[in-house]
Amino acid sequence: MAGRNPVTWLGSPTFPKAAHIALGDTQLRSNLRKATTTIRTKRAGVVAELDDWERLRRAGEAIKDSVLADLDTYLSRLEESVTARGGVVHWARDADEANRIVLDLVRAQGAEEVVKVKSMATAELGLNEALEEGGVHAVETDLAELIVQLGHDRPSHILVPAIHRNRAEIKNIFDREMPERPASDEPRDLAEAARRHLRRKFLSAKVAISGANFAVADTGSIVVVESEGNGRMCVTLPETLITVMGIEKVVPSWQDLEVFLQLLPRSSTAERMNPYTSVWSGVTPGDGPSTFHLVLLDNGRTATLADRVGRQALRCIRCSACLNVCPVYERTGGQAYGSVYPGPIGAILAPQLSGDLHDEQVASLPFASSLCGACYEVCPVRINIPEVLTHLREQAVKAKGKRTPEAIAMSAAAWVFADPKRYEAMQRAGSLSRLLARDGRISRLPWPGSKWTATRDAPSIPEESFRAWWRRNRE
Ligand code: SF4
Repeated sequence: MAGRNPVTWLGSPTFPKAAHIALGDTQLRSNLRKATTTIRTKRAGVVAELDDWERLRRAGEAIKDSVLADLDTYLSRLEESVTARGGVVHWARDADEANRIVLDLVRAQGAEEVVKVKSMATAELGLNEALEEGGVHAVETDLAELIVQLGHDRPSHILVPAIHRNRAEIKNIFDREMPERPASDEPRDLAEAARRHLRRKFLSAKVAISGANFAVADTGSIVVVESEGNGRMCVTLPETLITVMGIEKVVPSWQDLEVFLQLLPRSSTAERMNPYTSVWSGVTPGDGPSTFHLVLLDNGRTATLADRVGRQALRCIRCSACLNVCPVYERTGGQAYGSVYPGPIGAILAPQLSGDLHDEQVASLPFASSLCGACYEVCPVRINIPEVLTHLREQAVKAKGKRTPEAIAMSAAAWVFADPKRYEAMQRAGSLSRLLARDGRISRLPWPGSKWTATRDAPSIPEESFRAWWRRNRE
C-alpha cells in the first residue's frame, strides 16, 4: 500500500494466530530456549560485575530524554558537523523517500551490487527489496543476517536474526546457496565458508550501506558497534558509504557516548566491551570512503515523540535484552510478531512507527505480553515497556470502536466502579462464583468469563470482601 510504513510485514497474521502456529514447532522452541537462556545468564553475570549499573541506566535514560526533548537542535548540530567534515546529509520523512534517496545515490555510482552492515533502520524500510526492484542487489555481511538472506527467510531477533536456526539448518542453507560448500556444520567451518563468500563481495563493492548505533552531534561522528568485523570492512573498503539512521540515534557529545558504550555490549551480547567499534566523521582523504552520505530517517518517529507515554520507546538502543528475558518471545520467537522489531520492544515500537492501530495485525502487538515486567527490569535505558503496552492497548481498544466486547465490558466496569453501592452489589453477585471453585481456583466460567477460563484458571472471589471485613472489625 503506497505511503504505508513497512515496519510490519504485509500479510502477516495477527499475533495470536502466528503464535499458535509457532508454539506447535518444537524445534523452534528448543532453538530459542537454548539461545535465550545462555545469553540471559551471561548478561546477568556481566551486569552484576558493575556496582554502578543502576546509575549508568539512569544516566542513559536521562541523556536520551534530554536529546528527545531538544531533538531538532541536536539534529541541526549533527547536520552542520557532518557537512563541515565533507559528508552530505539527506532527510527522509518515510520509507518511500528514504529508499528513493538511497537508490538514486547507488545508481549515481553505477553500482549493481552493494555490501551492507546489519541495520534495523534499513530493515524497517524494506530497503533490500526496494533496491532489488531498482536493479541493485544488496549483500548482507553480518553472519546471522546473511543466513537469513540466503535462507530467503525473515529475521526473528534484533541482534541474532537467525536465532531460530540451528547449525544443521545453517549448513543446509550454505550448501544450497554458496558456490563453495562448508566442510561441516561446526561453527568454525560455517564461519570460514561465510568469510570466503563475503571477502569476494567486500573487494568488489563500490558502495556500502550501513545503519548507525549512535551519531555524535558535536563532531558529526557516526558509530557502529559489532562483533565480527564485517561491518568495519564495509565502512572502510568501498568508495562510497551511505548511512541510514533513525533521527533518535543522535547523542550530544563523546562524553554521552561513553555511557552507551558501557550499557550496550553488556546488555546485548553480554560482553564487557564489543569487539569492534567503528567511528567515522565525514571523509578523510586517502583513508576510507571518499564519499559519505547520511540519511536521517523519520518514518513515524516524530509522531511517536508527540505521545507523552509512548515516546520513551525512542530511547531504545536496540540491545535486545528485553527479547531474551521475555517469556512470550521465548516460546513464540520473533517471526510471530510479523514485524521488523520483535519481542517486547517490537510490541511497543512497531505500532507506534506504523501509526495505524486500525490495522488488526498492528493492533494485536501490544497484547503480545504477559506484562510480567522482566523487560523493564533489564532495559539499559529504563523504558517502562509494560506502561507503554497498557497505554497502547487502550488506544487499540478505542480504535476498534464503541461496539466491541472490550469496549462494552469497559463501559460496564466504569458504570459499576462509579457507584459504591453498585460495586458492593457486584461483589456480592461475584461471590456466588465460589460455587464453581475447587481449591480456590475456577477452571470453567459461563460466557463471557469462558473466554478467560478457556486458557487459564480464575481465582475464586473471597468469601468476605475487604469492605465487609472493615465494617465488622473497625466500625
Ligand atoms: S527496549 Fe530496552 S532492552 Fe529492549 S532492545 Fe531497547 S534498549 Fe534494549
